Amino acid sequence: MNISVFCGATAPRKMEYVEAARHLGECLAKGGHTLLYGGSNLGLMGTVSGAVLEGGGHVVGVIPSFFSEEIILSQPVSQLVRVASMAERKEYLIAHSDAFIALPGGIGTIDETFEVLVANQLGLCSKPMGLLNTDGFFNSLTDMMRRMEADGFYNLTDARYLMVEESPEPLLQLIESFVPLPNDGPVARRLRSKA
Ligand code: AMP
Repeated sequence: MNISVFCGATAPRKMEYVEAARHLGECLAKGGHTLLYGGSNLGLMGTVSGAVLEGGGHVVGVIPSFFSEEIILSQPVSQLVRVASMAERKEYLIAHSDAFIALPGGIGTIDETFEVLVANQLGLCSKPMGLLNTDGFFNSLTDMMRRMEADGFYNLTDARYLMVEESPEPLLQLIESFVPLPNDGPVARRLRSKA
């Protein structure tokens, strides 16, 4: 499978996150998956892509051309895709990936994660979004989503696309066994039923 990984572009304070990124990279390579990610060797991004390459796996870096050449070329990759903007990068990653995994990260990671969830919600795609919940990093996010549902802003049945696990092996198992429902998000269904 082609799997995009979103993660922090800065070095984290906790070694646990670095170990989780390395372990995920090893599992992706062992499982024969192709990693798509934001390019560069910054923070956990470099850790996960380095681990995939060391494991003999295939890595596609997708990076906007406004970054400096130093950043763009900072990590060897199997294939480098230059795009014009952050928006184009997200579009490319969503179009070319079968699934997505978020590791702990900052607002860039959360932005990419929600871009996928919103695309699923709108029925624009039907692809699993996994959260690698190292040290409970995403607990407050899933609590927020429960609050959204309780207050009527979010339908947790959409959460069939969202998978949360503490380690890569069970997360990859869920992703590999996910059965997609093409263009079948709730908004798409609602629009169809009104047509
Ligand atoms: P953050 O979580 O805020 O550190 O942002 C990381 C995410 O945003 C990554 O998954 C990247 O796709 C993207 N990103 C942010 N900053 C950079 C950067 N300097 N180089 C490449 N990608 C970046």
